[in-house]
Amino acid sequence: SYEDAMHRRKTKLTPALLTYYKKPVMVYQGHMQWLWDVHGQRYLDLFAGIVTVSVGHCHPKVKEAAKEQLDLLWHTTNVYMHPPIHEYAEKLTSYLPGDLKVCYFTNSGSEANDLALLMARLHTGSFDIISFRNAYHGCSPTPWFANDNVFLTSGPKLYVKRHFPLICLMRFCLILQTDRSCSCAAGECMAKDMYLEQLHEVLRYSTGKRVAGFWAEPVQGVGGAVQYPKGFLKEAYAMVRERGGICIADEVQTGFGRLGSHFWGFQTHDVMPDMVVMAKGIGNGYPLAAVVTTPEIAQSMTQALHLNTFGGNPVACAVGSAVLDVMEEDGTQQNSADVGTYFLLELAKLRDEFSIVGDVRGKGLMIGLELVKDKGTREPLPGPDVVSIWEDIKDMGVLIGKGGFYGNVFRIKPPMCLTKQDVDFGVAIIRRAIEKYCE
Ligand code: PMP
Repeated sequence: SYEDAMHRRKTKLTPALLTYYKKPVMVYQGHMQWLWDVHGQRYLDLFAGIVTVSVGHCHPKVKEAAKEQLDLLWHTTNVYMHPPIHEYAEKLTSYLPGDLKVCYFTNSGSEANDLALLMARLHTGSFDIISFRNAYHGCSPTPWFANDNVFLTSGPKLYVKRHFPLICLMRFCLILQTDRSCSCAAGECMAKDMYLEQLHEVLRYSTGKRVAGFWAEPVQGVGGAVQYPKGFLKEAYAMVRERGGICIADEVQTGFGRLGSHFWGFQTHDVMPDMVVMAKGIGNGYPLAAVVTTPEIAQSMTQALHLNTFGGNPVACAVGSAVLDVMEEDGTQQNSADVGTYFLLELAKLRDEFSIVGDVRGKGLMIGLELVKDKGTREPLPGPDVVSIWEDIKDMGVLIGKGGFYGNVFRIKPPMCLTKQDVDFGVAIIRRAIEKYCE
């Protein structure tokens, strides 16, 4: 029974688990953009297991590739060679521009960011790390804990209820007010200068006048689909490099065509990172992640012993390879662009119609819908109200995420096989839940 399942979860699994919904969904099966619970209730999945199922739940071709590899070889560790890791590294790097040609495979985005942090420090010989308030780069101790209350991953008390100096590694966290989109006209964002000014200040205070790495998600994911002012990232990269730092694009959410117009999020900013961190969509739900960097920066790792037992696992690499093939065959990136644009337009109608929809933003199939008390002040809609709308949406058969600095942003990031018909269905239900709240 449902009570039984809850009891098991509470007694046998860590209380650290975040459980969505008062009455959580017990998911049994998935196919493409659809999920079914153990009672046979169907849900349109607009959250994709936190932006991870890229080409579709249990996509038949990815499944086939995994099965084929399961029959041959599951595991060896990286100390032996095996064909899938070499084939996949070649294929993956063919999607990256410039000198981004050397891969290090891990199993999760947090591990990949840990590794990128190590490489940035080894390569530059510097210590300071810069990231954004409202950013999310993982939850292993390295990106989280620091002295002076600064983290690579940040948030009010969303992720860290109590902090203590477990590992004293970080020095700086850039307090950019990127917790919401600004309301300037496109291409004329006044916030850009303010942000650059803050970055300048942070750089001024970095120790030894040098910074190791600057982390940015091309569009903030957990933070609520927050976009930077046009041109900001390009200038920020130049300033960081001037101080000897390297620039890291965290593409864990934005990569693999999610933003529609480009394969990688950094391409939408016309910048060239020194390192790209990827996870989630890379494996369509199979654990796989990577850091891809230049041969020069990769050399820094010769100074460190860094082992990862499962990283580059044969099955994971076969899956990663199949995901890229499927993306080509299914036109996934184009679909993300087309259906994403349609989705944004349909949601914009809700923004125009309802006083509590403060903003609709995003790119491709990475969308945020911000709920407010008042459109003018943008005061966030209180948490319990946000939750009640979100629960109603679930009860009507649609799953979406929730996030943002104030927890008032609906996060919509479905498997990229979504259709316009699905959008109509999803938006109708979101509309109904908002109408019910506003009654
Ligand atoms: N970076 C970003 C941008 C993320 O969104 C996440 C996960 N939400 C991570 C890193 C960490 O990935 P993982 O949960 O696989 O460790």
